[in-house]
Amino acid sequence: MRKAGENETMQHRIPVEELGPAGPGMAAAIEACVHCGFCLGTCPTYLVLGEEMDSPRGRIYLMKQVLEGELPLSGAVAEHLDRCLGCLACVTACPSGVRYGELLTPIRARREREAPRPALARWVRAALLATLPYPRRFRLAARLGAIARRLPVPRWVPLPLRAMLELVPESLPPARPLPAHIPAQGRRRARVALLTGCVQQVLRPEINHATARVLAANGVEVLVPPGQGCCGALALHAGAEEQARDQAARTLEAFASLDVDAIVVNAAGCGSAMKEYHHVFAGSPHEKRARALADRVRDVSEFLAELGPLPPGPLSRPARVAYHDACHLAHGQGVREAPRHLLGAIPNVDLVELDEPDLCCGSAGIYNIEQPEVARQLQERKVESILASGASIVATGNIGCLVQVAAGLRRRGAPVRVMHTMELLAEAYATGAARAAG
Ligand code: SF4
Ligand code: SF4
Repeated sequence: MRKAGENETMQHRIPVEELGPAGPGMAAAIEACVHCGFCLGTCPTYLVLGEEMDSPRGRIYLMKQVLEGELPLSGAVAEHLDRCLGCLACVTACPSGVRYGELLTPIRARREREAPRPALARWVRAALLATLPYPRRFRLAARLGAIARRLPVPRWVPLPLRAMLELVPESLPPARPLPAHIPAQGRRRARVALLTGCVQQVLRPEINHATARVLAANGVEVLVPPGQGCCGALALHAGAEEQARDQAARTLEAFASLDVDAIVVNAAGCGSAMKEYHHVFAGSPHEKRARALADRVRDVSEFLAELGPLPPGPLSRPARVAYHDACHLAHGQGVREAPRHLLGAIPNVDLVELDEPDLCCGSAGIYNIEQPEVARQLQERKVESILASGASIVATGNIGCLVQVAAGLRRRGAPVRVMHTMELLAEAYATGAARAAG
């Protein structure tokens, strides 16, 4: 039976024109919500916490109240919004087409402006945003973290710092920047520019190299534009509006005028943010250029699927592989089939589906450090489903998920490797090439 108020669009008194360029999108998201609750069962925080105000429907209601001036953006309201992972599973689930992301991103920025966090949380956040997007600083911080990890952690160390230490790998690979140009192998089929990112080049530089090799093996010429840095995704998703805009402007500068068929990205969070650049620059002189760039951004698996991938060879050893959907790939960009097709085309890969493959693993940018309890529960749930699948390898398309899932498996002592989809494909194409060469 339908409850009173259900399946009616949300009436509101939001002063849209006072909200700037984001106003119409925010109001439209609120208006479109019919309170049906279809999103509740797919929302990770609702599944874990069981609170209406930690569900999409509850948060939309809170945001409406804030925008109407009925509730302050502080205290419990801010906490419920902070607990949102920004995973966008609610967008996938919503039959009314509520564009929750267009509501959440500007509200997050406003929350940072209007509701100061407690001192420790402020310090942790500032330290993360001043370190992670900058490879040199992050490499140094990660090295120090790896040393600290070997020491016993005193009980007084706060939870976010413990969570941070747990994510740091025991050792870091050496820096391995890509050359500025990687030629296509055989007949050239396309020319792309590759985003090399920030965190990824420190924690797993092999992912960028593997991506370039896979593209080259598919006849794609790869440019690696100098002067690129962090695309701003981390800051954008954390509500650090100014930093996000600065980093996006630099990325725009590095990529916008290149004569390429696509701008290829191999980290889901970055691709999702770059496809939204026109929102970042809404109302500014950069908006048109940002939209043109956003239209050319492709996740690497999406790009290869559009191009038509050449057949890969087998892995050096047969493997049962489970694929974990990164939220910003599946929900943020709607890319689900392409990576599965690529992996399924490797002759000796037995591709298995996880139970809840697109449920967030708890990583979500800096969420796993800021909200360690919820993140840990989601991480454990993901690890359980991986172990139940019997897979020896988990593939995913996002460095954040990779680190989060690997840390969870490490804690369980489970001998399951976590790899980027491109790392597996690079091995497969290399084996195929070696066999063809006899
Ligand atoms: S599924 Fe969509 S319309 Fe229904 S409550 Fe959730 S956000 Fe609102
Ligand atoms: S973005 Fe994710 S965590 Fe946030 S309300 Fe939507 S489904 Fe829930």
